[in-house]
Amino acid sequence: MRVVLVGPPGAGKGTQAQFIASHLSIPKISTGDIFRANVSGGTELGKLAKEYMDRGDLVPDEVTVAMVRDRLSHDDAQEGFLLDGFPRNVPQAEVLKKMLAEFGTSLDVVLNLVVDDDEVVRRLAGRRTCRSCGKVWHVLFDPPAVEGVCDACGGELFQRDDDREETIRHRLEVYQEQTAPLISFYADEGIVQGVDATGPVEEVTQRAMAALRRFAE
Ligand SMILES: [Zn+2]
Repeated sequence: MRVVLVGPPGAGKGTQAQFIASHLSIPKISTGDIFRANVSGGTELGKLAKEYMDRGDLVPDEVTVAMVRDRLSHDDAQEGFLLDGFPRNVPQAEVLKKMLAEFGTSLDVVLNLVVDDDEVVRRLAGRRTCRSCGKVWHVLFDPPAVEGVCDACGGELFQRDDDREETIRHRLEVYQEQTAPLISFYADEGIVQGVDATGPVEEVTQRAMAALRRFAE
């Protein structure tokens, strides 16, 4: 099965990607993993990507696309894969479609993890990070015994800028702007499946698997 997984920050996409890929016995292919593998392997593409990243610039689409093409041509991806983090926009989706057509295949399903903005804010804005050991706590879901103090090392807990409500809401807006056209691109192809991503991780995985089974029928 050839699957693309999309979802906003705070939807638990990385975790779901891992579980779903393992249930389906297909490789999880995330752009983060591909970047790291190319950079640490010292490939030409990796060197190129690193130049951009070292400057703090975004890696251009051509480089990302070339890495994805290379990864999808590996043996383990021939019977299926789960893509996480690619495509990010409609031009990338068009490139992916052409690429798969060259390989004689196409996407089966785009799983869209759905969580409402307030739930994402509740999940992310409750995070508190230890200044000393870096452990992440959560004021509601995983609180330390004493408020503001790390159970593990006694260090002081603080809220990272990334975890502030206004930062999260801004990231969600950017995500919606980028992703809405991508979802409608795939909706036109009739391959989008929405999955309610609220509630316990295992339940979300079960819902995703049920959606995939419905699609496979
Ligand atoms: Zn600590």
